[in-house]
Amino acid sequence: MTATTASLGLYPEILKYGAADVSACFSCGTCTATCPLGQEQGTFPRRIIRYAQVGMKDALLGSKELWACYQCGECSESCPTQADPSEFMAATRRWAIGQYDKTRLARTLYTQPIVAILVAVLLAVLFAAFMYSAHGPMDGQRLAIFEWVPAELIHTTGIAVMIAVVLAGLAGVWTMVRSVGGREGVGWRSVLGSRDALTRTRRAAWVALGREALGQTIFRRECAADPKSRVIPWYRRRAIVHALVVWGFLGLLAATALDYGLALLGIKATGTPVPIWYPVRLLGTVAGVALLYGTSVLMLDRYRAANRSVRSSTVADWLLLALLWIVAATGFAIELALYLPDAPAWGYWIFLVHVAMAMELVLLAPFMKLAHAAYRPLALFFVAFQALAYTPKEE
Ligand code: SF4
Ligand code: SF4
Repeated sequence: MTATTASLGLYPEILKYGAADVSACFSCGTCTATCPLGQEQGTFPRRIIRYAQVGMKDALLGSKELWACYQCGECSESCPTQADPSEFMAATRRWAIGQYDKTRLARTLYTQPIVAILVAVLLAVLFAAFMYSAHGPMDGQRLAIFEWVPAELIHTTGIAVMIAVVLAGLAGVWTMVRSVGGREGVGWRSVLGSRDALTRTRRAAWVALGREALGQTIFRRECAADPKSRVIPWYRRRAIVHALVVWGFLGLLAATALDYGLALLGIKATGTPVPIWYPVRLLGTVAGVALLYGTSVLMLDRYRAANRSVRSSTVADWLLLALLWIVAATGFAIELALYLPDAPAWGYWIFLVHVAMAMELVLLAPFMKLAHAAYRPLALFFVAFQALAYTPKEE
């Protein structure tokens, strides 16, 4: 049996991540009865609050249920003491991202707003200055952005950023998987050690990745079941807007990777003028529209505190939305500049901002809320894996 040690500073530490003070919680269990996940997850979310209150740090870090929550706010609506468990879950996830990240950058971004803004500005300036240092001539006849900032430099820097992100992301994922797997008693043998184990792993992976991460089945189902969401036009509903941001972001990443792939294969050099219906450009344009619309609605909702899930916002929340919005908006401004008869000088400068912000966004991904794109599917994998009954052969 594993010894459990209490961390006295745990609760005050989570409060630093923007958590609502849940000291009024007296474990009545109303939130568990209300939570759409409560039936499947036993005593969730009440148990998470108790873990924090009594300092059970390892239990929190190893909690798969924490990431299953999609911040619908139902629990907070029903809490008799106004303890706001929904916001507490969100802050505990931010804290967990800070704990899984060993560089402490995530912790800094979440708990020190001024430093977070300075880091964001400094990174953008550094990326822009680095790109600008290698700039070529500014063609006034056509917008030759990849001659002004050499495509080769952008590709090389992009690859270096991706390597850093993958390493940082994998380190966080490794820590998370060890924490949750250790707590659940799920090890390599359980998931890969036999034919039955592989079947169960494959089915759990499909539920986590296909049905939930990409299809967002529970998110959409609960949104549709929520009577409050029915009075909101479909194009403003959380599930739709969230899906547009997710698919818009993935689409832009795919368009960038495909464009680089075409250049490597010698099919189309980066920067070659192509019509708007050229497949890679079309993908980038559609994805950009989705991302720009989605982030605009999310920012507006946050500004208005339009629903429970956005009633309180941290600087890190705004920072992420701002980066996503700037990357999408500057992408469109470049497209516009490309179709203007004479190459406007502002097109070059917007391009520099776009590249610097895109690099920064990708580089900071493992240290911000975007990290949940990795942690949530993994946690959902454990949820699905445990839900599938063990077969006698595995034991
Ligand atoms: S958070 Fe509120 S509803 Fe949930 S157990 Fe505590 S007091 Fe009850
Ligand atoms: S926010 Fe929604 S999913 Fe999360 S704990 Fe509360 S009721 Fe459950």
